[in-house]
Amino acid sequence: MSQALDVLRSRFGYDEFRFQQQQIIDGLIDGRDALVLMPTGGGKSLCYQIPAILRDGVGIIISPLIALMQDQVDALALNGLSAAFLNSTQTVDQQQQVKQRLRNNDIDLLYVAPERALNEDFLQMLGECRIALFAIDEAHCVSQWGHDFRPDYQKLTRLHERFPGVPRIALTATADQRTLREIEQQLQLEGAQRFVHSFDRPNIFYRVTQGDNNRQRLWSFIQQHHASDAGIVYCLSRKKVEETAKWLGDRGRHALPYHAGLDKNTRAEHQRIFLQQEGVIIVATIAFGMGIDKPDVRFVAHLNLPKNLESYYQETGRAGRDGEPANAWMAYGMQDVITLRQMMAQSDADEQFKRVLHHKMEAMLGFCEQTGCRRQTLLAYFDETLAEPCGHCDNCVEPPLTWDATEAARMGLSCVFRTGQRFGVNYVIDVLLGNAKDRILQNRHDQLSTFGIGDLDQNEWRSLFRQLIALGYLYADIDNYGALKMTPDCKPLLAGDRQLWLRKFEKPVKTPKPATPKIRTELREGDTPLFEALRLHRKQLAQEQGVPPYVILHDKTLAAICAQRPDSVEQLSMIPGIGERKLELYGSELIRITREYPSDGQALSGGSD
Ligand code: ADP
Ligand code: ZN
Repeated sequence: MSQALDVLRSRFGYDEFRFQQQQIIDGLIDGRDALVLMPTGGGKSLCYQIPAILRDGVGIIISPLIALMQDQVDALALNGLSAAFLNSTQTVDQQQQVKQRLRNNDIDLLYVAPERALNEDFLQMLGECRIALFAIDEAHCVSQWGHDFRPDYQKLTRLHERFPGVPRIALTATADQRTLREIEQQLQLEGAQRFVHSFDRPNIFYRVTQGDNNRQRLWSFIQQHHASDAGIVYCLSRKKVEETAKWLGDRGRHALPYHAGLDKNTRAEHQRIFLQQEGVIIVATIAFGMGIDKPDVRFVAHLNLPKNLESYYQETGRAGRDGEPANAWMAYGMQDVITLRQMMAQSDADEQFKRVLHHKMEAMLGFCEQTGCRRQTLLAYFDETLAEPCGHCDNCVEPPLTWDATEAARMGLSCVFRTGQRFGVNYVIDVLLGNAKDRILQNRHDQLSTFGIGDLDQNEWRSLFRQLIALGYLYADIDNYGALKMTPDCKPLLAGDRQLWLRKFEKPVKTPKPATPKIRTELREGDTPLFEALRLHRKQLAQEQGVPPYVILHDKTLAAICAQRPDSVEQLSMIPGIGERKLELYGSELIRITREYPSDGQALSGGSD
């Protein structure tokens, strides 16, 4: 058996390497650089953790989020590994202790932020240690086009210049081809072996809905599929975050806001509660979540249109990192399109940058309005081809109804034209519906041929305009109070040279199909009492040790115990997710509890708890 596999089994309790983990690890152990693109939950951490353990010296892990270092180190310690971090949250004493351990060559893994890694004192200290490797996590932060740009990342080549013999690994879960090239150039990793893993996250079910009353629809979705699960709800503005968290709270869910307007301590506290307690919902602006390693987030919901597909993919990727079924759910409306375009137009960025942003937003909209398989589009965006429709997204499961919208689109466009391209969508729809409102009468638009024309209702018109905007026939002129303007694309449509099939307006009453069996429904019926007993035990352990429950054991591991009913330490050691250290710490108690619940589901009388 290779040493790496041995460590995987004995320290981490897993049987096999996943994907390309083995090649990546072997390469690093042999001193070769690597650039790794792997989806969230793919198992990137092991790619540097195992080589850091096996190579002589300390592995330096550069990570942008100091808030998470404690958790990462705690989790490693529970596997019996020697890990530490250095950051500004520590007292001088604590930092001294870590430095002493470093000098004694007593640390396998050291987590630091980029600022720290570039600090001259730190570099000097490294000069006195043996270094196993440099791991640059969240490497897309190097890209100034990206959404998480961190200028210090661009200076990380200094590490390489200073310690040229040390192998490096850069990892990210979010990068298109262009960003990958940028990472390579900025970090001088042109010689590194590239490992690009499929972006597919087969356990995530994608659903995009449009229409009004998003919050109510969110609630139905949560009630129906995730009545007691942990999840993240993303909104565009702080105000909406606050309102939504309160709204969910009023309905009995433990929901906490997270946005840049909250002070640092509150944010840290909310993040801590989300990680450590079960069934908490975080309502956040997009600023939440990078590097959050909570494997049992069962749903990610968007109450607004995300800015681009990278963000959408990255945010939804926070669901189901444990590989169990999870939902990505989105509700958006036309107002989102207008708001995003406004934000974009008002930014001070240069023209080229704006064009990139614009292009990305169009791709996002295209994804929402499309009628084909979502996963195919999503993967295509990351240059990956999925030959067949996935069968696990809303469009695959319930193909959207389409209708020949050519005639209606012509009416809508001609109404925009006849009202002088000076009015917003609500006004235009009022004219189309024949609503004789004061403003319309003043403008004498009740005299137009398009006044009260067609047989669409208000919602159907809204859907039509949303799609006309998404497809680029119309845009909302933001300098002009959102007045609808026509683009040259309208010509062939108005001239009758082009047909237009659009997604039919979805009636909000439609009940969504059941999308995700949860872990617990995969348990045999009689296993529930044992599962609950194990969960309770895990919760006590977690509280005693001040770590999140999943750091002790994953749900998946508990479920495997229920299924296999290990009766000895040997049998227990075969359960995935239980390494030597955890076996030693928790083994006898797990077996004791398991024995109290024989497979027929009845607790033995006289069981102690
Ligand atoms: P990433 O950093 O890529 O998002 P992680 O490194 O946090 O993902 O891994 C996600 C989950 O998968 C973790 O719970 C990890 O322990 C688990 N995992 C990683 N590699 C394996 C493997 N070879 N077998 C089983 N589970 C694994
Ligand atoms: Zn699909």
